[in-house]
Parts: sequence; C-alpha cells; structure tokens
Amino acid sequence: MANRTGAVQGAAVWRILLGTREPKKGIPRLGEGKETELTMKSHLILAGVVFALGTSAAVAQDNRIRVIAFGAHPDDCEVRAGGVAAKFAAKGHLVKFVSVTNGDAGHCVMGGGALAKRRWAEAQEAARRLGIAAYEVLDNHDGELMPTLEVRKQIIRLIRQWNADIVLSPRSNDYHPDHRYTGILVQDAAFMVVIPMVVPDLAPLRRNPVFLYFEDGFQKPQPFQPDIAVNIDEVWGKKLDSFEADESQFYEAQPNCWGGGAVVPKDPLERRKWLEKRWDRGPGPRVQSSLEKWYGPQRAKQIRHAEAFELCEYGRRPGDAELKKLFPFFE
Ligand SMILES: [Zn+2]
Repeated sequence: MANRTGAVQGAAVWRILLGTREPKKGIPRLGEGKETELTMKSHLILAGVVFALGTSAAVAQDNRIRVIAFGAHPDDCEVRAGGVAAKFAAKGHLVKFVSVTNGDAGHCVMGGGALAKRRWAEAQEAARRLGIAAYEVLDNHDGELMPTLEVRKQIIRLIRQWNADIVLSPRSNDYHPDHRYTGILVQDAAFMVVIPMVVPDLAPLRRNPVFLYFEDGFQKPQPFQPDIAVNIDEVWGKKLDSFEADESQFYEAQPNCWGGGAVVPKDPLERRKWLEKRWDRGPGPRVQSSLEKWYGPQRAKQIRHAEAFELCEYGRRPGDAELKKLFPFFE
C-alpha cells in the first residue's frame, strides 16, 4: 500500500499544478483510507510538501478492472463473490472487499473488540488466499447497522477512492438487517459518486460504475434475477480456502451458534471435506439459464459452481458487450 499512498499524493500534486478538476481513470483519489474532511487549503499544503520531497507523480494508466464488493460482515463477500474475486485477481485486476460492520456480534461465546480483531485478521487471511488487493473492515457495530448519511458517505468515499468500475453488494431483501442496510447504503451511493458537491473534498468519479447485486434466494418483493453468471469451478478450492480462513464463522458460529448444532470434524482434512459438502450447491435453474446464455448450453451443463449477479438500475447500465468486457471470463 506504500506505493498507493505515493500515487495518491502524486495525483494531488498534478491535479493542483495542472488545474485538473477530475483525476483520469486509474488514479487513486485523495483521502485514501481516511475519513478526514480535508479542505482545499490542506490539499495545497500536502501537495507542496509532497512536491518538495520529490515524490513522483507518475500515474499508472492501465487496463486493470477495478472491483469493489461490499458485505455487511467480514465473510459475506467471500460467500457471494469469492470465486469471481479470485478470477479477477488471477488476471491481474484489482479487487477490494469491504465489510461495512466489524463483525463484533458474529459469535455466541465471544464478542466485542476481541471478536472484531479476530475477524479482521481472518478477513486479511481470506484476502491473501483469494489473491485480492485489499480487505477493509469498517468499524461499525455488527447487528446495529443503520442506513445513515454518515455511513453512506463512508461508502461513497470507498467507491471513489477505489476508482471502481464494478461495485457489488447485497440486495435490500434479506433476513439480516445489516445485509438489507448494506444493500440500501450501496445503492444510495450509486450516482452520488459522480456528484461533485456530495462529499466535496474527494474528487467525484467521471462516470457511474456498474453496480450489481449478489445472488440470494429471497422471493419477495421479487426474486433475484441472474443477469450475469460466472463459472467459478477452477477457483472453487480457493473460495473454500477463504472460508477456512474465516474459521470463527464457517467452523464455529455458523454450525454451532445458528446452524442447528452441526458436528464439525476435528481432523483438518475431514473438516475441509465437511465444509466442501456443506457449500457444494449446484447452480439453481435461473442461474443455469444465465450460464447457458453466457457460455452456451454445452459448456453450461458442465459447470458445477457459479456466482451470479443482478444489475442494479441505479448504476451505469451496460449492454451484454460491455458486461463481457467488465467480466472478461467468457472467451
Ligand atoms: Zn452477513
């Protein structure tokens, strides 16, 4: 991340020296990883200091796709998008996971700061195993998330700082209020990310990213619509590796606290087999038809594991050709 900080400051220098209002695509944005409300004056001071230190203002102009996924808890993104994330990462694209809460209520015999710390460390390990660039955990309490303006601004900042092309999140229909409100918060950030006077100390995106929802099984008020479905068979093992990193959830809380008391084998190999069996759910009929659309009927039949996403109408609305560019997995 050290290089990114340099790039952020370098971008500030260029924007101020050249008088550009918006950074070009691929430039990280001011305020990276901070919730500070910097004024223009402090930007100028920062730029001067950086310039005096001779920091390079070189800007990486690359073709890397920038994906940011928001889950409510530090394991949600792994479940809904761990496979796709590993595929993007393997192709050199940049993926960041964000947990909007710190997960401090996600257990039945531990909680608070100790659990939040444990889950933060698990999330970092999950990110490492998936090969993704970053996993940030926001310090909002688990089980208490509300769709406030303050959190909406946190989300707007994160999307801008990541210069996101693709934003993933849950839908707002879900059994868990944190999931519902994460869905609301992210969809409320869509479009706002391009408005200069909203969070005005941070440059807006030049164009609205493509926002997509994770798959879920809820039927009301309308079922999930798989607009795109991706074969994750070759990264299925990596996805399970990330689940194993989240040990407090997949081996403790889910089976023992709210999973009906399933017995988890003690032996590591047996435990892994148990985990795989528990999560080995083939694509449902709707996802299967989406796979047929994107891969053709013959290939689709052979796919065992997939992740699907629904387009959010409040983001940019890509056609199939643009979706193929954004999800470069269909050659
Ligand atoms: Zn969750």
